[in-house]
Amino acid sequence: MSGVRTPGSSGHVLEVRGLRAGVAGREILRGVDLTLHSGEVHAVMGPNGSGKSTLAHVIMGRPGYEVLGGSVTLDGADVLAMTPWQRAHAGLFLALQYPTEVPGVSLQDLLESAVRATGHDAGDVAAAIRAEAERLALDPQLLDRPVNVDLSGGEKKKNETLQLGVLRPAFALLDELDSGLDIDALRACARRVEAATEESGLGVLAITHYPRLLHELRADHVHVLAKGAIVRSGGPDLARELDENGYVGLLGPDLAGESETAAVGAGPARPTIDDPFGGPGTSPGGGDPFADPLAGL
Ligand code: ADP
Ligand code: MG
Repeated sequence: MSGVRTPGSSGHVLEVRGLRAGVAGREILRGVDLTLHSGEVHAVMGPNGSGKSTLAHVIMGRPGYEVLGGSVTLDGADVLAMTPWQRAHAGLFLALQYPTEVPGVSLQDLLESAVRATGHDAGDVAAAIRAEAERLALDPQLLDRPVNVDLSGGEKKKNETLQLGVLRPAFALLDELDSGLDIDALRACARRVEAATEESGLGVLAITHYPRLLHELRADHVHVLAKGAIVRSGGPDLARELDENGYVGLLGPDLAGESETAAVGAGPARPTIDDPFGGPGTSPGGGDPFADPLAGL
């Protein structure tokens, strides 16, 4: 895979310090601290609405979130000052909880453009895609479809993992990679990510509800996010403790409940025909490159 970029060759640090962020005037993240090094796997678990996806989106630069304080740096560079594509370029990768369908764009074109944008030769991308599909047991016929179009939920997650394998970022943010996956697909994706931590020193922030993901993707650190702050951190035992006792057992009913922002009931904006990206949108038309343009139509 020479020719495919390799920023993930270890020695990188992603630092989140006192990160506070909100949307629509409501504070969701209330001071998050996390330090990820190359090769490490950090699991982030937490009740629904605790801010897990918000954390991943703010690190990757989804439009519409307001950063209220704190910092995110990658090897000392100010991530929050970068556009989303600059963050990708710098070595960050987000595997979406709900992968986006992109009609009219082939997977190969997408990945070749991404590799070329970093100044590398994209000549090996087609071979890398086939090799990754084989590792993930993803039907090669699906590779010819426009990105994610008409794929099952599990195939979309494999497709996200395939992109991660080809692009070799320094850090991957996995937002519920395990949701919608059957047991075999979960194992294939988790194993592939675990291998990347060893082969190219990938650092991982894995948002998950289920310790099962962590059977194959071995967490070095487990963090519990509640009401926008990390309230517990520990080793893999913490995931097992959570599995046995639940959030209420571990945190008590106050912290384990959904944050009050959830109680107001305004979830992320849904896409409409007029606003196909459906984001909370600071830019005209939402402008949210993270949203599924076809969802909800
Ligand atoms: P989690 O991923 O932990 O389930 P989220 O980060 O998706 O939680 O959401 C945290 C809180 O922020 C929830 O109360 C949610 O309703 C709210 N929220 C997230 N995104 C938006 C948005 N775009 N507009 C309004 N509220 C939002
Ligand atoms: Mg979420």
